[in-house]
This record gives sequence, structure tokens and C-alpha cells, in this order.
Amino acid sequence: MQSFNPPVRTLMGPGPSDVHPRILSAMARPTIGHLDPEFIRMMDEVKAMLQYAFQTKNPMTMPVSAPGSAGMETCFANLVEPGDKVIVCINGVFGNRMRENVERCGGTCVEVKDDWGTAVSPEKVEAALVANPDAKIVAFVHAETSTGACSDVKTICEIAHKHNCLTIVDAVTSLGGVELKVDEWGVDSIYSGTQKCLSCVPGLSPVSFNEAALDKVRNRKTKVQSWFLDLNLVMGYWGQGAKRAYHHTAPVNTLYALHESLVMLKEEGLENAHARHRAMHNKLKVGLEEMGIKFLVDESVRLPQLNSVWIPEGVDDAAVRSELLTKYNLEIGSGLGDFAGKVWRIGTMGFSATEENILFCLAALKDVLGKK
Ligand SMILES: *Cc1c(COP(=O)(O)O)cnc(C)c1O
Repeated sequence: MQSFNPPVRTLMGPGPSDVHPRILSAMARPTIGHLDPEFIRMMDEVKAMLQYAFQTKNPMTMPVSAPGSAGMETCFANLVEPGDKVIVCINGVFGNRMRENVERCGGTCVEVKDDWGTAVSPEKVEAALVANPDAKIVAFVHAETSTGACSDVKTICEIAHKHNCLTIVDAVTSLGGVELKVDEWGVDSIYSGTQKCLSCVPGLSPVSFNEAALDKVRNRKTKVQSWFLDLNLVMGYWGQGAKRAYHHTAPVNTLYALHESLVMLKEEGLENAHARHRAMHNKLKVGLEEMGIKFLVDESVRLPQLNSVWIPEGVDDAAVRSELLTKYNLEIGSGLGDFAGKVWRIGTMGFSATEENILFCLAALKDVLGKK
């Protein structure tokens, strides 16, 4: 056995995205105790910077010590009680996972379905709420990574509140890539990931809960089924002011990485980060369209950071992706579900969204496609 030395790739798939060297070197700093006063000072900075990233004042804003899927489970496990009716909007892979979560928490799922590649329809959400006046929660995905469609968080939250429902929003791919205003848009609970537009390493899931959501958690009739994800317990470690108590050993060095990525986000500024994602998307779009490659998602709801494009007629999906990887060390994503073999998903997330990468990706694709 020898040390593992990964190849140096350019990551332009659906995540993880390229990790900035500053973030990688932050991870290599000395491990200290997870209750060390210096570590706790860093945790407080992480919380404050996550509030900035989410545009929220929610005190309950922190990273769950596991990837985005654990943030998803944190929201559902804490907010859904057995018997609760939950409206789940499904327009791609991650909406389906939300339904799984509801069912495993003992909730009843009412599906609001939209075609893959389109946004969640607020009209259908409203109709489902009218038909199900006993619904307690509306759950939906802001940025569907399986297709590249962006849904209207503000409008859906307004409709949910009009019908006395709380909201659970998946912002794994949206955070840092497109506008997201948790407080202004009235989001009650939200989860994200570190390895998409924050360009950090995988393994953490930033979450945020407002007072209304926490009220529901505090007034549960049953205990949260998951000990690890129970917010009442997690807050003993991540909560402010009061003495921090051991809950689990935080992934110390991964949190250094998140801290560094958030310092970089603050340095760049949220609006500038969004504008960079948009500009790189536009550059990629022009190049792809020159090659005759077309987009799956309508421009009006298209995410700049996840570009789903139709694979040209007669082109072998797997052969192209394999050659991009072996010859150019370039990773792009394959299609999921009905789109397997039909679309590519080109990620321009975080540090992957640079002019250099866009030009490299276009040139590599042109070369590989030229021979097919
Ligand atoms: C990637 C992703 C997840 C899951 O995150 P993991 O870190 O892979 O667990 C959830 N939702 C969306 C929209 C995603 O893109």
C-alpha cells in the first residue's frame, strides 16, 4: 500500500466543484479540540458568515456535520411529525428524495408534480393547498441539480404561509450561486451543501431555521426519531452564549475549510459571486450554441451554475465523458433518470466558474466531439 495521490481534475459536473487551494491549505492546519476556546471562536465566525450567505438573522444557523443529504434529513426529521401532511414539489431527483424523507418520518406526502426541466408551478402548489387544508408543510427544491431549473422561492413561500404552512427549502446548489434571501423571502427552514457553489470540500450541510420552525420543533408531541440530527441536542454544541456541551466530535478540519470558503465569499461579496456565475454561464452558453448544442431548460428559469444540454444526435455519451476525463482530466456530469444518455450536466459552480475553465471546457468538448 502506498499513499493515495488523486489526479488533478477540473470539476465541471453537478458537484463537487473545484476546491480553491486556499481552502485546501486551510484544511491542512493543525487539528485542535472541538471544545477548544479558539475552535469555538471559529465556530461563531462560521455561524455569522453563514447568516450572511443565507441573508438571515436566524440564530439557529449552523453547519450539520455531514453532507447535504443530512441537512435535508435534519429539516424533515425535526419538522415532520408522524401523521403530518406535507406538500412535496417534485420536478427532479431531489424532490423525490424529499418524498422519501416525509414517508420515513411517518408523514403523509401530497405530491405536486412538474415536468423535469421546468420550475415548480406556484399555481399547482396553491391548488394542492386548497385541496389539502390540513397540510402543515410545503417542501421544494430551489435549484434542481438534476435538471438545472430554478424555482421561485419567494412566491412559493408566500403561498405556503397564506395557507398556514411552514416551508422546507433545498438550497444545496443555489447557495452562493444565485440570489437567495432567507429572511426577506420568508423561508422557515433551509439546508445547503458545501461542495457546490461554495467550492468547499464535501461533508458539511449549512442549515437555518426561523422561530416559527423552531416553535414546531419545541412543541413536538414525539421525540425527533434521529438522536444525531435532533436540533434540541445539536444546539447544546452549536448554540450561542451558554456553555458548549459535547454532542459529537465536530469535523474540525472540514470546518476550517468551510470557514475559509466563507471568508472568500465575503471578500468577493454575494452579489459579485452571483454575477460571476451568471457571466460564466453566458460565456459557456455562447460557446456551446456555436457548436450547435442546445439547452434543456428554458432561459427564464435556467440556473447559471448547472447547465443541462442535449447530447448531439449520434454522439456516444459515455465515450465522450470518458475521453474528457482521461485526456483532459475534465469531469462533466451525466443525465439522471429519463435524461440518462440524453443530456450532459455542465457545472459552473463556485471556483469552477472561471473564464479559464469555460474556455478549457469548450475547447476540450470541441476536440472530443470533432472526432465522434
Ligand atoms: C447535491 C444535492 C443534494 C445532496 O447533497 P449531498 O452533499 O450529495 O448529500 C441535495 N439536494 C440538491 C439539490 C443537490 O444538488
